[in-house]
Amino acid sequence: MGSPLFQRVCIAGIGLIGSSLARAIRARGLAGTVVTYDASPAVRAKALELGIVDDAPADVGQAVAGADLVMICTPVGAYAELAEAMAPHLAGGAIVSDVGSVKQAIIRDVSPHLPDGIHLVPGHPVAGTEHSGPEAGFAELFEGRWCILTPPPGTDAAAVDKVAALWRTIGSNTEVMDPQHHDQVLAITSHLPHLIAYTIVGTATDLEGSLKQEVIKFSAGGFRDFTRIAASDPVMWRDVFLNNKEAVLEMLQRFTEDLTALQRAIRWGEGEKLQDLFTRTREIRRGIIDARQA
Ligand code: NAP
Repeated sequence: MGSPLFQRVCIAGIGLIGSSLARAIRARGLAGTVVTYDASPAVRAKALELGIVDDAPADVGQAVAGADLVMICTPVGAYAELAEAMAPHLAGGAIVSDVGSVKQAIIRDVSPHLPDGIHLVPGHPVAGTEHSGPEAGFAELFEGRWCILTPPPGTDAAAVDKVAALWRTIGSNTEVMDPQHHDQVLAITSHLPHLIAYTIVGTATDLEGSLKQEVIKFSAGGFRDFTRIAASDPVMWRDVFLNNKEAVLEMLQRFTEDLTALQRAIRWGEGEKLQDLFTRTREIRRGIIDARQA
């Protein structure tokens, strides 16, 4: 058990990530009090019932009042409105951080609303599952995973250190990154794979009758692994693509070109080309296993 890093933490949006954070913060004794604000009355009631927060007021102002850390854990599309609503109630010197999967857009949406003296320290834990809601969370979710912090230039170094200390105490490795670079890296490592999974599963569901039945029956041939990714939260992922447009479109363009090259190799029977690529990609998998990110 550590000593509290924060007096009062407010988690705005207590779904998979917010509730995992609440659990981890409580398990390590990192906050005197943990409260939540969630737009959904049912989710607020569930968070109280699960015993993962001390309070869950229906009013955002009441929830953030007196908090020295406000952690935004809603889908990215909700940030601007939420930041505007909470801004007048934030305590002087408070840190506002987040867990959103895109970083340039959230800085664009949140920072204009924050009064002077509030420290914005954006973050992104590269950890998750395909499940949603407060019951899906667990305290160990972030252990051994990366949390990327993307403070805008001029951010108070002590505030960044405090947020980094929180993530490290709950088991994550931290790295500070430029927000634009973050969005490019995540476009290829996370956003594009989700788009591809959504596409493959969408294509399969459009197949006619008997073929469609066989897709489920024989899904262990590879399709099944895509369905897990394509079961991820629809609202969260809608907002990711709408808010990381440029980087995703750039990676999609490259991917399309590579796919066309593969199509050509298959058409012309260029087995060596196929085998070369598949050999290189196998190495990537080994690298991920070696880095303990499998
Ligand atoms: P989630 O399980 O759907 O939880 C989001 C919660 O926020 C829901 O309870 C939702 O309520 C609530 N909410 C929506 N709009 C709100 C608003 N305006 N004010 C207050 N609460 C609001 O989603 P999640 O998977 O935890 O994702 C949350 C954030 O984490 C996203 O920004 C996502 O990009 C990021 N993230 C997710 C993952 C992942 O694998 N899931 C990984 C890393 C980062 P309703 O259900 O009523 O809408």
